[in-house]
Amino acid sequence: DSSILSIKGLKTYYKTKEGYVKAVDDVSFQVPKGSVVGIAGESGSGKSTIVQSIFKVLPRNAEIKEGSIEFEGKDILKIDEKIFNKEIRWKKISWIPQVSMDVLDPVYKIKDQLLETIFAHEDISKAEAMEIIVNQLRAVNLPLDVLDRYPYELSGGQKQRVVIATALLLNPELVIADEPTTALDVIVQAQILNIIRKLKEERNFSMIFVTHDLALLAGISDYIVILYAGKVVEMGKTEEIFKSPMHPYTQLLLKSIPDVRKRKERLHGIPGEPPDLINPPQGCRFYPRCPFAMDICKKEEPQLVNISPTHYVACHLRK
Ligand code: ATP
Ligand code: SF4
Ligand code: MG
Repeated sequence: DSSILSIKGLKTYYKTKEGYVKAVDDVSFQVPKGSVVGIAGESGSGKSTIVQSIFKVLPRNAEIKEGSIEFEGKDILKIDEKIFNKEIRWKKISWIPQVSMDVLDPVYKIKDQLLETIFAHEDISKAEAMEIIVNQLRAVNLPLDVLDRYPYELSGGQKQRVVIATALLLNPELVIADEPTTALDVIVQAQILNIIRKLKEERNFSMIFVTHDLALLAGISDYIVILYAGKVVEMGKTEEIFKSPMHPYTQLLLKSIPDVRKRKERLHGIPGEPPDLINPPQGCRFYPRCPFAMDICKKEEPQLVNISPTHYVACHLRK
């Protein structure tokens, strides 16, 4: 088919003393080739766990219980780590990690970090590698003098540009950005988004863009997956999600986006807390917070159903 990535029935749990945290619990979605798929949901909904499952960089206590992640037709969960590292990681699939992850090594100059990424995958001369690096820094609007600096000598926005340059160094086919602009101030955030948008247009890679801020996706994604407590509750084309949201959670997320024209109105989050993922509620995981909860919601888990060829929702109201 025309998907570059196809996730089916993925269950990624974390083993803890108290039991398994069901962080990603039967998640399926696809990334059509050349498209941008946004994944949105509150903190703790499992966004980074999905990303780390795809890039195979899960914490040690994580266990993939079920499911498959097909990339270009092959299940990457079954590919040997050595081969994945040599042929796929950074080269075909790359990762722009959540800023808090601090992937830049503090003891290496920027130049050396970038060279190392290239030499791990490509058998080319240093001069050729430097040419790639210089082009890449230009593409993210960084001055070349950052090459001889250490990460601590750069601003947050500059560091994030280096991380983006690293992710795109080997011209990957799929780029996974995990909250690439969170923790940056609004102006820098807009600059970084513009760079990502420009690069996407020029190179036409496919992309997964993770954010807790649904509003961000309006300008960048083709499709949106809404995640709640480890489950997909709704997904569809971006305009379907924004114009006709069907799940109560999606509707509340959209209402919590501040309206710039009514700046004075106070922004409220969604009342209540996400559930405990060790013992999640039976039935619909959203029912403790749902304004429309019915008896059936406590007992029976709503399944994802089509309401258009591209729009899916899991809610007992929409059957
Ligand atoms: P955020 O927006 O805060 O980045 P997220 O949607 O990326 O959140 P995840 O980081 O995927 O969420 O976490 C999903 C759930 O798994 C959360 O309940 C989190 O507490 C839990 N979790 C994450 N890492 C671990 C771990 N190593 N061990 C146990 N539980 C974990
Ligand atoms: Fe609300 Fe029930 Fe729909 Fe869950 S299934 S979102 S509780 S109405
Ligand atoms: Mg995260």
